[in-house]
Amino acid sequence: MSEVHATLAAWVLDWWELWAVVLAGVVGTGLAPAVVGRTESTRPLDPALAEAVARAGVPAERVRVLAGGRGPVAFAAGLSPTRGRVFVSERLVADLAPEEVAAVVCHEYGHLARRHVPVRVVVPVAFALAWAVGATLSPDPGFLVGAALVLPAAFLTVRVSRWTEHDADQFARASGSGPSLAAALVALADAGHVTEGGWFSRHPSLVSRIERLDEHDVAGTGSEPIENSTAAEPLRRRR
Ligand SMILES: [Zn+2]
Repeated sequence: MSEVHATLAAWVLDWWELWAVVLAGVVGTGLAPAVVGRTESTRPLDPALAEAVARAGVPAERVRVLAGGRGPVAFAAGLSPTRGRVFVSERLVADLAPEEVAAVVCHEYGHLARRHVPVRVVVPVAFALAWAVGATLSPDPGFLVGAALVLPAAFLTVRVSRWTEHDADQFARASGSGPSLAAALVALADAGHVTEGGWFSRHPSLVSRIERLDEHDVAGTGSEPIENSTAAEPLRRRR
């Protein structure tokens, strides 16, 4: 083994904790659909909702309803649209119209279809790697510079996360679910289930989400206009 290879191997071994964390993250995310399916009691969608979901372009067998007394929630688990799953709570199904539930499901499925999980971890993983390399090459300034950049890196991670939310909204809009998604967001906000986050909130503001859904529909993209084009109005007033 050449000297370069030996140095490289030593460096890789030196940072085994970092690789272990990255590997655990990838394996854990990939296994998440199976873990949720086994640890929670779930059921398939009712036929009417399955049809609405299929009309929104999402394979109904990829969606499960979570039993239990949680609030109106929906989330995607997994890394890809073929292996991942979307979970919706009974409460969400009960509180929203089928087309609205289908639109929310379409948004969540968009996270899988557009590979948002890997996209979201690019910044933290790249940052951790750069910090590790910097601290190895030049321990004193390397470690300090990395420490000083933790906050900006966290902020950038949040920005990427917010972008993925808008991107998943646009995925739903492209499937014709834009107006129903906007209606679902307004209904959830009116019922007090959506809180506006601060600087480090992973989610964009509701007003910005609805305005973008609205804006693209008005731009003549072929999908139905929002029934009430001032859907964001109640949210603006609440601010
Ligand atoms: Zn989302």
